[in-house]
Formats: sequence, C-alpha cells, structure tokens
Amino acid sequence: MKLSEKPREKNIAPPLWLLAEVTYRCPLNCVFCYNPVDYAKQHNELTTAEWVKVLREGRKMGAAQLGLSGGEPLLRKDLEEIVEEARKLGYYVNLLTSGIGMTEERIKNLKIAGLDHIQLSFQDSTKEMNDFLSSTKTFDLKKKVAGLIKEYDYPMVLNCVLHRLNIDHIEQILNMAEAMGAEFVELANTQFYSWGMLNRDQLLPSEEQLKRAEKITHKFRDRLGNKMKLFFIMPDYYSTRPKKCMNGWGNVFITVQADGMVLPCHVASMLPDINFESVRNKSLDWIWYKSPGFNKFRGDDWMKEPCKSCPEKENDLGGCRCQAFMLTGDPNAADPVCDKSPHHSKISEAVIASQKPSNYERPIVFRTDNDSRKIMQKRDKGQLDITSSRLLERDSKPSKEKSRVGLV
Ligand code: SF4
Ligand code: SF4
Repeated sequence: MKLSEKPREKNIAPPLWLLAEVTYRCPLNCVFCYNPVDYAKQHNELTTAEWVKVLREGRKMGAAQLGLSGGEPLLRKDLEEIVEEARKLGYYVNLLTSGIGMTEERIKNLKIAGLDHIQLSFQDSTKEMNDFLSSTKTFDLKKKVAGLIKEYDYPMVLNCVLHRLNIDHIEQILNMAEAMGAEFVELANTQFYSWGMLNRDQLLPSEEQLKRAEKITHKFRDRLGNKMKLFFIMPDYYSTRPKKCMNGWGNVFITVQADGMVLPCHVASMLPDINFESVRNKSLDWIWYKSPGFNKFRGDDWMKEPCKSCPEKENDLGGCRCQAFMLTGDPNAADPVCDKSPHHSKISEAVIASQKPSNYERPIVFRTDNDSRKIMQKRDKGQLDITSSRLLERDSKPSKEKSRVGLV
C-alpha cells in the first residue's frame, strides 16, 4: 500500500508501533495486570469495522508493527478478521495472549489469516503459583497452547512477569521454557502501574532476589546463546535513572484502547487535565500530530527543575509521566526513580520496605471486574486518591489467598 506522502508536522515522526487493546475482557485475574484499574467502565468496544478503520489510518501514517492485546484478544470472535485485514495492509502482526481461548481450529485460522507472531504468557513454572497469581486453573491449558504454537510453526515466544512471589523460581521457569523449545523468553519484572501498583508491597522483589535471578539468567544465556534468547527487564525501582518511557511521549508508540480512546502509552489515561481523544470522533492522524494530549509532553518545554537544566535530559526525557504523577501528584515532575529528584525517597523507602517479610501481611488484590467497579465508585464519590497505591486498603479483608501467598 502507498503510504501518505503529505509533509509531516515539524519534528514529529510518524508512529511505528500500533498497540490495539481490542478488549478488556479477560478470563484471568492477574495481580500485576497493567490494564487501567477502572477498566470495567469500558463496555463499548470498537466494532470490527471501527478496528479496520483504525488499522487503515495507522498504516497510512506509517505504522508497521501491530500488537493485538487486551485483556485477552482471543475473546474477540472477529480476531481472525482483524488479523486478515492487518496482514493485507502490510503490518507485521503480533498476538499477545494468555493462551486461554486458543484451540487448534483458531490457531489454524489465525495462521491462514496471516498472523506472524504469538507471545504466550505464563505466570510461573509451577501449576500452584501460576493458578494462584491469575486466580484461575489455566496452567495445563497454557502448556497445551505452547504445544500448538510449536506445531503450527510459530517461533516460541514466552513471557513471564517476575516479582517477589515467583522470582525465586527463575531457574525452573527457564528450564520450562527450554523444555518447551522457546526461542525467545521475556522475563519482565513487574512495572508498578495499575494493578501492579495496588500490590506493590507484595510484588516488589528484594535486591538479593534480583541479583540471584540475574545471575541465573546469565548462566542460561551463556549455555544457550542464540538458541534461546533471554531478555531480563529490571524493575525501575532499582535504578537511579529512569527509563526513556515509551521511547519518548508520542514518539514511536500509539495505543488504541478497547473503546477507541487513543493514548501515547497504555496507562496514560490516569493523568489529570488531559482530554485524550477517541477514534470515534477524530482521525488517528489528527490525534497523533495535532491533539493537545499527544503534544502535551513532547519536547522539553513542559519540564521543571531538576530536569529542565539537566545535562542528561536527552537520555531519558525526564522519565515516565505516569510514575511521576503516581508518586508525586505532579505529572510535570522528574520521575522519582531519578536520584536527582527531590522525591527519590518515595522509591528508596519502597525498596527498603521490600526487604521486610511483614509485607505479606496485606492481602493481595486480584484484577476483577468487581474491584474495578469499586475503584470507580470511590473515584466518582471523591473518596479516592488515585496517586495512592493503597486504593483498596480500607476494604481489604484477610483472605484465604493471604495464607496461600505466605506458603510460597
Ligand atoms: S495481565 Fe492477566 S488479567 Fe491482565 S490482561 Fe493479561 S492475562 Fe488478563
Ligand atoms: S533530572 Fe530529570 S532529565 Fe536529569 S537524569 Fe533525572 S529524570 Fe533525567
């Protein structure tokens, strides 16, 4: 297809990655889920025709990679149609899935439709912990899906989100990946947003745990080389400089939520005083180049000290706006991960607290429609400080899960 030749807005490159969060419905209830905590408000998913329009507009702007995620994208009965259209338009199409809903018939049809890549997530190498963390009985099903991925000749790409409760199983996780014939394994430490932030005290690993996990990952890397490529993503909390979030706000990635709202990253809807636009009302092109939301944190005009005059600002662009907002209440502040930030103690205190076993005392919160609705109700009544990581603390009751966590 011929890409648009009209001159681009000064200094704004086109998006390369389009992330389509096609649904927030999900059979799993992961404790680290990155979906917005108020996801339950999204009942009005884009239709097939609306997604096709989004894909066409994105491709015309220059986007080349499409990620289909959720929720669980396999819950959309039209997934094959969306994949087929995307492939025809020339996208490289990647499905990010928990595997639940994948059958032999579906994988066959997705292959025919032109799906290029499947990333399958596991919560752990043990059935007990995998099923506990997602509050479902899905471990055996995931193993079957891993077999189907191999059978249908896809590269085996496994993802496992790491945290305090499973990081000590890293050797077993990597052994499992090797036994499954994984070519790529992404070991991404939980980033503390959304549901992960609610459960931060239970999920933040200790420094000792991280060091051990890194050492074991290196051992596997040395032994397996290119046969199984390993990506180990550190949690921000153990750095003194923040990440260049999304490779820069409105720079490479564009995310379209299930109801059509367009964001520079999948959690940016938490930021105050920004009206993000929907593909139902505006074109993707206008949203990317012209909308106030996408231009808000481009460049460095918005920066305050210490970022404004910082010689390192090109490296990280002041870090993550959402993390700055969650931890300081100010989205224009330096990301507190940075040790030059006056709020860096918010990070170091959390790291110190993570060394204490008493963190297990608070019950863990699962991502459920019910809790998502509770959070919305509180927010609507003005009872919610959305910068707090303890949104549900007053409601949380000791639960069976608490003792199960303690056993691991
Ligand atoms: S992280 Fe878990 S609960 Fe959240 S969308 Fe993915 S599979 Fe579903
Ligand atoms: S002060 Fe700001 S720009 Fe400088 S390193 Fe820290 S976060 Fe980055």
